[in-house]
Amino acid sequence: MRCPDCGSERLEVDETHKVDDHVRRYRLCKDCGFRFRTEEKVWIRYPKRGS
Ligand SMILES: [Zn+2]
Repeated sequence: MRCPDCGSERLEVDETHKVDDHVRRYRLCKDCGFRFRTEEKVWIRYPKRGS
């Protein structure tokens, strides 16, 4: 993942929140100080049951 502002890879996770079925992370760029949010959805695969 890169900073959307300057393209740096030196990012720091500032905060992590669990919101229902996804994780919200606030990241901070160590180079330019830009703060942005990413959301990661958790996908759960259920095995198909044969009848
Ligand atoms: Zn940056």
